[in-house]
Amino acid sequence: MPASPGSRTVVTRFAPSPTGRLHLGHAYSALLGWRSARAASGRFLLRIEDIDPVRCRPEYTDAILQDLDWLGLDWEGTARVQSAHLQEYRAALDRLQAMGLLYPCFCTRADIAREIAAIGHAPHGPDGLLYPGTCRSLPLAERAARIAGGEPYALRLDMAAALRRAVGPLCFVELGDGGPRRIRCDPARFGDAVLARKDIPASYHLCVTHDDALQGVTLVTRAEDLRPATDLHRLIQALMGWPTPCYSHHSLLLDADGRRLSKRDKAPTLLALREAGHSPEEVRAMALSRPTKRPTGR
Ligand code: GLU
Repeated sequence: MPASPGSRTVVTRFAPSPTGRLHLGHAYSALLGWRSARAASGRFLLRIEDIDPVRCRPEYTDAILQDLDWLGLDWEGTARVQSAHLQEYRAALDRLQAMGLLYPCFCTRADIAREIAAIGHAPHGPDGLLYPGTCRSLPLAERAARIAGGEPYALRLDMAAALRRAVGPLCFVELGDGGPRRIRCDPARFGDAVLARKDIPASYHLCVTHDDALQGVTLVTRAEDLRPATDLHRLIQALMGWPTPCYSHHSLLLDADGRRLSKRDKAPTLLALREAGHSPEEVRAMALSRPTKRPTGR
């Protein structure tokens, strides 16, 4: 059982992906983390999760730094920028590969859809339809030949093998809405998750757990929509021998129609609020007083 954050220095973080301007929901998340660190005389870190070269843009990274600064939030040291650390993620993948827990997957989306149609059903996991395992049993010679031929491939976690290796029940302490409680994880619902994408030798699940461990994060503060991912993150931590942080999954802010604030639905950005003449204090108060969606229990 992980230690409660009271027994060690609280290190928490805000880890946005620079895919657009920050909105009130981000401000809320960052403020909760920043306040937890302050209240415990702990440390607040900023991490830019920009491994996706298609969706992330450097100008949004600059904008995140400016917006947080304007909001009056300070973080320790310089922000860790994930795209500058791909070698480290590669090394973590090499370790998993040496344990025999990864396999190359050459399937395209169309291949997977065809395979699922042929099987007639596929269970749904938190990241979408579960991979039917087509490439798991490819002969080694075929794998080697396809890789040598330059065919692109992802690296998937062999979930069954990983669960055999990670002995004991996987749990974490949830400190978010509803108070401290121990939650049992069920990583199997991800199936053979992708840990390295075809286009980059990394994935969100791998990088976030790697960096939380590397940066000594003791309290992961993030929104409730990432709560299911924690089941897989706990498995990766167990496989890699990384410590287990506590988690504070906070509820999502709602717009006037009761829908969650999102970039897609054009939630007002911090920039727009600033340009409309609101002060940082007002925007902080807005974020903290917005109605939220109660997290769904499990
Ligand atoms: N980078 C993720 C996002 O912007 C958050 C990751 C995390 O806090 O664990 O949604």
